[in-house]
Amino acid sequence: MFGSESVAADLLAQVRWRNGVTCPRCRSDLTVKNGSYGHFQRYLCKNCDRTFNDKTGTIFAHSKVALRKWLFSIYAFLRFNTSLRQLQLEIDVQYKTIYQRVERFTKALDAPSLDLVGPVEIDEVYVSAGLKGRERDQESRSRGLSTRGRGSYDQDKPPVFTIVDRGTGDRYVIPAKSADESTVRLLLANREKEPLTVYTDGFRAYDPLDVDDAFDREYVVHGDGEYADAD
Ligand SMILES: [Zn+2]
Repeated sequence: MFGSESVAADLLAQVRWRNGVTCPRCRSDLTVKNGSYGHFQRYLCKNCDRTFNDKTGTIFAHSKVALRKWLFSIYAFLRFNTSLRQLQLEIDVQYKTIYQRVERFTKALDAPSLDLVGPVEIDEVYVSAGLKGRERDQESRSRGLSTRGRGSYDQDKPPVFTIVDRGTGDRYVIPAKSADESTVRLLLANREKEPLTVYTDGFRAYDPLDVDDAFDREYVVHGDGEYADAD
């Protein structure tokens, strides 16, 4: 999925700079591309004359673990409820480290403006705040699948949307304030003239897609679990 470090770097850049590149030190947007830092784009700030890269100032900046491993962990944690203990073994870091990084990353993201081509798969999972690591570890042992209660921040279980654009191969992991119709519309905002094909389950927040000409809604069935071509 995040098969190479450059794919992971692209994803990070896409999420981080969705409103344009700004200098992490002086916040100026007078920046130009300036070579590269490993797989990551480097920039020069013309205001403060310092360089930075896609990772500078993020929780990944000083990690020895490859970014693609972090993104895989975060995706697996949110989408498949893979336990942090299991992920800890897979990427070989201390439990505390992975707990902090995954938690901080999921908190740091919010809705990017997506450029969806489709067909699109959209789904949500819920992350309990507070005792997240322990709770989810227990659930994943006993149930093996995502928590599928429909929550909101009010209930201390913010939803996290996962969107896969089969058209482009892009994947998005987007925490949201609530799993309601307006959030779904915002995420799937369709700028194309052709209807966007969207695969969802039967959750009612997706129902308005049925009657909106901008969308062709298709259904997926949870249980055997995954989408037809899940990888
Ligand atoms: Zn600057």
